[in-house]
Amino acid sequence: AEPPPFRNEPLLDFARAENREAMAAALRKVESELGRTYPLILDGRAIETPDRLAESVDPSRSTRVVGRVSTADAGHADRAVAVARAAVGPWSSTPAAERAAVLVRAAAILRRRKFELAAWEVYECGKPWREADGDVAEAIDFCEFYAREMVRLAEPRRRDVPGETNVCDRLPRGVAVVIPPWNFPLAIPCGMTVAPLVAGCAVILKPAEQSPVVAAKLVEILHEAGVPKGALQYLPGEGEEVGQALVNDRRVDVVSFTGSRPVGLLLNKQAADTPPGQDHVKRVIAEMGGKNAIIVDDDADLDEAVVGVLQSAFGYAGQKCSACSRVVVLEGVYDAFVARLAEAGKSLRVGPAADPDTFVGPVIDADAQKRILEYRGVALQEGRVVLDVDVSEQARLGSFVGPLIVADVAADARVAQEEIFGPILAVLKAKDLTDALAIAEGTSYALTGGLYSRSPVTIERVRREFRVGNLYINRTITGAAVDRQPFGGFKLSGVGAKAGGSEYLLEYLLTRSITENT
Ligand code: GLU
Repeated sequence: AEPPPFRNEPLLDFARAENREAMAAALRKVESELGRTYPLILDGRAIETPDRLAESVDPSRSTRVVGRVSTADAGHADRAVAVARAAVGPWSSTPAAERAAVLVRAAAILRRRKFELAAWEVYECGKPWREADGDVAEAIDFCEFYAREMVRLAEPRRRDVPGETNVCDRLPRGVAVVIPPWNFPLAIPCGMTVAPLVAGCAVILKPAEQSPVVAAKLVEILHEAGVPKGALQYLPGEGEEVGQALVNDRRVDVVSFTGSRPVGLLLNKQAADTPPGQDHVKRVIAEMGGKNAIIVDDDADLDEAVVGVLQSAFGYAGQKCSACSRVVVLEGVYDAFVARLAEAGKSLRVGPAADPDTFVGPVIDADAQKRILEYRGVALQEGRVVLDVDVSEQARLGSFVGPLIVADVAADARVAQEEIFGPILAVLKAKDLTDALAIAEGTSYALTGGLYSRSPVTIERVRREFRVGNLYINRTITGAAVDRQPFGGFKLSGVGAKAGGSEYLLEYLLTRSITENT
């Protein structure tokens, strides 16, 4: 039977008592399960490495251990690739419709365990409730969407002429190494994993070092849904060790990465190598961040612009590739906008992620906190402070950084050029729209961008000229929805097809043309 058309999974309404209670219950249940040990999953076997355990801690309360995870070494990576190679044949000869059905089953399990999975994200990644729910919903969307896309792509394309039949079909590329980030700990690993799987590839998932427990839950769910053991293996470990071994392995066909630019560029370079014995060029998909700007026009609805900028800049403490880190304001409304932004910023609720009222939680770990606090020092030099939220109370327990807004920042300042990945926002003044666009585009990134304006002429011009991967007009610039807003950037923000769009599966597929003379 035809599946119903794709629909985005609705978000939970936490204004409803039953949802609040279900989430509170899930948090209590998950709290009682914290501190367990998780094995590698290699060839369907659970492998413990008791002398090499990595700790995943709760960023809201750094003494709380979320889980202890076994870590793979280069030897495990070597075995995992061999197992994956052997799994590609049988898995890819399973009909595409059956592989798609596995994803739809996975979506059903994710839906059933929605509150519990969101609770794990609260503890492992410091995601406030709404953000955690959004992440689980997006994971469900990736399964449902790629399942349908694969069924469509698997339909051979025919172009017969008299005396000749022509058909194009799709073959999986082979073994995909997936290296996701921690900031969308379920959705991004899920999308990056189920896309190659439904395409018929075998996947080795090396989860982010900060969120291996949520990734372990994902792998458990995918196996339960019917992904063959050899086709999906779970290899947590250090990037420098297991990640490097996987990326450099000659038997790997695709390297799919989301994370920082230096790592993305390094993997892209390494994966380009074709040492003797390797008979193919590896495909690299890398999503590498942003320095995203929202332009505020002088006729913008400032109430809406203020709310949209605050949400885009400080949602999940600014730890999204899509986050707004620069707001470029036209001269005519600059002072009024900055004053209102600063005033509204005072009401941002900072606190532990498990607290239902929290809007800004902690940053992911002590290293991130240290790096962001260094940028804080730079921001204080480079701009005029208009909002500086004190979090000394919260910082006694977890890795908190207070939201900071600095104004009058120069376009070439470090805080206007470098991705900080934290709750620091720079405000820049523009003379006119031409100047605003030049500033907005004046970085080496081009991921998301935004505009607040009421003028159709301005909107039209910005639509035409603003070259970013995801452009949003009169709304927030984060929270791209699968299928509706395929996500991914230009320039040094990344390489490869957009996630959650129709071209994404093609990254994991080869197209074969078959002609028969009849
Ligand atoms: N897709 C996410 C969004 O639009 C961002 C993903 C990322 O940070 O990598 O908010």
